[in-house]
Amino acid sequence: APPAPASYEVVVLPGDGIGVEVTDAGVAVLRAVAEPLGLRFDLDFHQAGAGAYKETGVAIAETVTTAAGDADAILFGAMGLPDVRRDDGTEIAPQIDLRERFGLVAGVRPATLLPGIDPVLYAPKVDFVTVRESTEGLFAGRNDPPSGDPDVEHDRMTITRATSETLFEVSFSLAAARRRTGGPGRVTLFDKANVLKSQAFLRRIFDEVAERHPGIETERVYVDAGVMMMVREPERFDVVVMENMFGDIVSDLAAGITGGLGLAPSADIGRDHAVFQPCHGSAPDIAGRDLANPVGMILSVAMMLDWLGDRHDDARCLDAARRVRAAVDATLAAGTRTRDVGGTAGTTSFTEAVVAAL
Ligand code: ATP
Ligand code: MG
Repeated sequence: APPAPASYEVVVLPGDGIGVEVTDAGVAVLRAVAEPLGLRFDLDFHQAGAGAYKETGVAIAETVTTAAGDADAILFGAMGLPDVRRDDGTEIAPQIDLRERFGLVAGVRPATLLPGIDPVLYAPKVDFVTVRESTEGLFAGRNDPPSGDPDVEHDRMTITRATSETLFEVSFSLAAARRRTGGPGRVTLFDKANVLKSQAFLRRIFDEVAERHPGIETERVYVDAGVMMMVREPERFDVVVMENMFGDIVSDLAAGITGGLGLAPSADIGRDHAVFQPCHGSAPDIAGRDLANPVGMILSVAMMLDWLGDRHDDARCLDAARRVRAAVDATLAAGTRTRDVGGTAGTTSFTEAVVAAL
């Protein structure tokens, strides 16, 4: 592991819409938790996203991407606005460029019940993480040319050994890290190995990587049976990993189980880089009105602290992550909530309450 630097360099890309407001919240919490622990963060803010594209014609400048590549971590608000598109109609989404550029193959999304938030389902405990492969799978051929036959169209499922090994290594590390804080240490593969060759290959690579991690339990479940279990007994899952398209669907199901887009954090993790951002988008309908729920972003900051702590073997970062989660829990448990989850607090007053709890 690279040793802990004197000061962690974080490239911060607030982006568009409520991305800016929730990033302010995340940064306030990061500063508040770091200082008493003697942890130093060097925050390097840059403009990127739809606003940047409108002003400069470039969604993310090469200098910004380079700075992001050199940083210890990347913190990302939200990017894209419905009325800002390229000439070909595509949306501005630099997060996809970063994923490809830095090989961020593992899209990590925790699903956790939080105090004071009504769960959609009755479940005694929901505390699992979905890991979605984010660069290939059924999305691999999205830029393939049309078939040429007006009556047939194809998409292909591509699974590669290199990407799958990284994906599974991230998943097993995550299960090991979660076990240190009371998790069961289990990785579940959702696949369709009974039908698709690419999925049978994925399962073989999973089994190989599993052999290198004898301390972690594993299970292999067909994705269709898996989603039923996820609804009926979510408490059985710890880390659940799968191909891109399955992950796209299952991670939204998981977010639905725990209730509320504004609450959900995420990380895009590769071998040497990681981007942390809330699951939600730029939400232009509520932007600039102090209505955004900052919990997803604040918990993304906690994920960043965990990742840095594991990577650099830095107990102060792990401690900071614990403190941030505890402060969010305490704030919600005391009944302070934003409007999207039934409360009356604004983005800033909620954030002040979390900082006070710290
Ligand atoms: P994208 O296309 O960028 O992924 P989206 O269009 O799927 O995003 P969002 O922009 O994330 O969706 O938001 C959908 C709606 O959910 C918003 O219009 C907003 O009303 C609500 N929402 C999203 N995030 C939050 C938040 N942090 N706090 C409160 N409400 C939110
Ligand atoms: Mg949107």
